Amino acid sequence: MAGNERLQNFIGGKWIASAATATHPVFNPATGQVIAECPLSSANEVDAAVQAAQSAYPSWRRTPVENRIQPLFELKALLEKHAKELAAIVTRENGKTLSESLGSVRRGIQMVEVATGAPSLLMGQALEDIATGIDCESVRQPMGVFACITPFNFPAMVPLWFFPFAVACGNTFVCKPSEQTPLSQKLVFELAQEAGFPDGVLNLVHGGREAVEAICDHPLVRGISFVGSSPVAKAVYTRGCAAGKRVQALGGAKNFLFVMPDAEMESALDAISESACGCAGERCLATSIVVPVGDCHAAVREGLLKRMQALKVGDGSHPDTTLGPLISAAHREKVLAAIERGVQEGAELVLDGRKAEVPSEGFFLGPSLFDGVTSEMALAREEIFGPVLCIQRADSLDDALELAHAHPLANASSIFTTSGKHARQFRYQIDASMAGVNIGVSAPMSFFGFGGAKGSFFGDLKAHGREAFDFYTDRKVLISRW
Ligand code: NAD
Repeated sequence: MAGNERLQNFIGGKWIASAATATHPVFNPATGQVIAECPLSSANEVDAAVQAAQSAYPSWRRTPVENRIQPLFELKALLEKHAKELAAIVTRENGKTLSESLGSVRRGIQMVEVATGAPSLLMGQALEDIATGIDCESVRQPMGVFACITPFNFPAMVPLWFFPFAVACGNTFVCKPSEQTPLSQKLVFELAQEAGFPDGVLNLVHGGREAVEAICDHPLVRGISFVGSSPVAKAVYTRGCAAGKRVQALGGAKNFLFVMPDAEMESALDAISESACGCAGERCLATSIVVPVGDCHAAVREGLLKRMQALKVGDGSHPDTTLGPLISAAHREKVLAAIERGVQEGAELVLDGRKAEVPSEGFFLGPSLFDGVTSEMALAREEIFGPVLCIQRADSLDDALELAHAHPLANASSIFTTSGKHARQFRYQIDASMAGVNIGVSAPMSFFGFGGAKGSFFGDLKAHGREAFDFYTDRKVLISRW
């Protein structure tokens, strides 16, 4: 580990070494080598970042919105210029393929683009004569310091779901990225510094649980945007709300995808295989359970087997790789345990990722396909977050929907069909908040809201799109008689 970069916090416009003695090793998952050390900053360091953000707030709030969005235009240009460099960092610290990384960077840049619409999107409402001679308006006002806490799987993109909107609204911000993948945000914050945000408007604190709890408890933090696993999402939501903050907490997933016998089978199977194994299955929108409805089971099973067998496992920075490594040795062990448990539970392991040819170093695992999965199996209940796809059969669309509705998580779901009747029933009834028709990964664009339902989301206002302007402002109502 000697000689590896130790990351610094960015507080009040300066890069500052953390005083923390505890660090988390950052790995290149394709080699298993430690490439950096992430300090686990203390509550005092979180406090320093929040105080810097609070000091910057009064002047940033008074800055006209047209001026506030100028650094965002600069940031957009800088992110475009450095997109390939940023994507290479994402691949290096996370493992996903370069094209997957670049796709996520593009999605992040689109968030900045939408946030620059703040002059229009922040507008309020007004009505004259709500009573004789009395006029009423509602205006959106920033609230102060907001923070985000983000996961390992989209290290460049997920913080960009939040801070561009928050600062465009006139708030100041503290970002706490995943300690497993902190390198991308180092570059994003260097670019943000170059883009000309005033000191203290954007702050970066590296850390783990202590930093998260300090954010939840800090009296000056007005709101938190969290993305991660459901147990932590629930804990952050509960703790943050108890401290009087607004919290949006996006959690884990177990996504069902239905295939009707009338589906365009070849394109459906291409999309499903990509949805399950893209980003090594470490995607909150990944398909976990595919449900062939009626008599299309054999076609789905054979088609997926063929496609998953053809995946090329390897270092995500190599152009021919289609399946990169998992994030860590510990996570690989967790996925291996889920596969073993599935076998013990009696599911049929049609394709065994443990037997795939993979590089000898790094946290690689081939794709696995299970058939004969039933709802009581851990395979069907628990989020695996790896390249493991389960087939669970259903006789009808009603039965298929029941399987999904019985699950406590409801992030995303899709149907593949050529029938408008089936598509409408699915759209109308499915309880996941991200619902796709003939779409493998139902991710919307930055100008729409994003977030799940049931145990996949804690809060009410979702991420990005117009909802971000609601989450990051207080809608004050002004009533006047002159
Ligand atoms: P995680 O919950 O382990 O970590 C997320 C963040 O919480 C990190 O910043 C981490 O430092 C912090 N954290 C972890 N444990 C904590 C604890 N005990 N107390 C306080 N803070 C803690 O999640 P992860 O493994 O980094 O990411 C994968 C998870 O994120 C999956 O469950 C995935 O479905 C979910 N995810 C959801 C979405 C979505 O949009 N719903 C998007 C991406 C990822």
